[in-house]
Amino acid sequence: MVEKRDYYEVLGVERDADRKTIKRAFLKLARKVHPDVSDDPAAEEQFKELNEAYSVLSDDVKRANYDRFGTAEGAGGSGYVDFSDIFGGMGVDDIFSSFFGGRSASSQRGRAARRQGRDMAISLEVTLEEVARGCKKTIAYDRLAPCDDCGGTGMAEGASEQECPRCHGTGFVTTVQRSVFGQVQSSSPCPECGGEGTVLDSPCEMCDGQGRTPNHERIDVRIPAGISSGGQLRVQGMGEAGMRGAPAGDLIVSVRVRDHERFQRSGDDLVCEIEVSMVQAALGCTVEVAGIMPDETIPFEIAAGTQHGELVIVEGLGMPRMSGGGRGRSAAQVRVLVPRELPDEARALLARYAALMGESVESDSISAAAQDAAAASEAELAEHDKPSKSVVDRIRDAIDDVLE
Ligand SMILES: [Zn+2]
Ligand SMILES: [Zn+2]
Repeated sequence: MVEKRDYYEVLGVERDADRKTIKRAFLKLARKVHPDVSDDPAAEEQFKELNEAYSVLSDDVKRANYDRFGTAEGAGGSGYVDFSDIFGGMGVDDIFSSFFGGRSASSQRGRAARRQGRDMAISLEVTLEEVARGCKKTIAYDRLAPCDDCGGTGMAEGASEQECPRCHGTGFVTTVQRSVFGQVQSSSPCPECGGEGTVLDSPCEMCDGQGRTPNHERIDVRIPAGISSGGQLRVQGMGEAGMRGAPAGDLIVSVRVRDHERFQRSGDDLVCEIEVSMVQAALGCTVEVAGIMPDETIPFEIAAGTQHGELVIVEGLGMPRMSGGGRGRSAAQVRVLVPRELPDEARALLARYAALMGESVESDSISAAAQDAAAASEAELAEHDKPSKSVVDRIRDAIDDVLE
């Protein structure tokens, strides 16, 4: 197990170094040890160490945590969604490859494709409450951003851009080879200018004339109220920066709405389940449910005679509509519950109800109910040690009705 080196030591900077110094140190070292550039077998490990040090020290929050606690995570949460780790799996390699080793590889794609920055994609998870209200999310990610030092031009101060002497500005060179089939003519991107058509007499040191450098970004994204899961937001110009000031790609944020514990979403409508007793369903009642907005309640009115599985709808308390304003509906699917156990008195009343409606029910249940009720009332009588004719009479009546 190798002891972890101090991040400042890895980058060879003082502890109070500013962002620019840290970045300059990183780019200088990375250019030597990036696996696309170096043949040294140790290069990959060295680059990993370097990248880890840089990704922490280039992020204000992580750096502060590292200074205080010795780790980037620190004591508490960061309060923003960090995608650097996601890119760390694959994207960062891509970012660095296009930067450090990318000259020959990217020029294969031709001049236009090479100049413009590519779009980048991020998938962002939000809650249904956040979508209902609309929210702002801070997201952190890595990209090739316009170089601060040269403003994206790729040129050092006082430098100028000249027509490439090798390809005369076309960006392509034509080679003629003799073969058994005769002369074969082929055209390839100019190695001198990388297909650019121009060369800089003095390129910017920080970006090596590319006009862009790997950068840790943190941006705020507004999530509009009512956006659906899978909806995409395009943040213009926040994808990969172009070469030497060419247009940057966009950052495409795909919104994923997390499942809600109570509400299911169907377009702009929200559907939940409510439970009522069989008596409430028969006689009608109002059930209040917490809504999706803060401090909001939805009054579901259960009409007398509502059946199990029926939908009760309240207009206007669903999700906000992205187009046209207003809100969708709230719907509740009614679950009618049948009691699993009944207190004796309730059982007797139900038996009476069954008799009244002429419904046949388990007779054991009726007589047991009747006997239980009678026993209960007698026990009650004994306990109070004084006759309470009314209770006794009521129970007797019930028993008589049931057994008639
Ligand atoms: Zn050229
Ligand atoms: Zn530059």
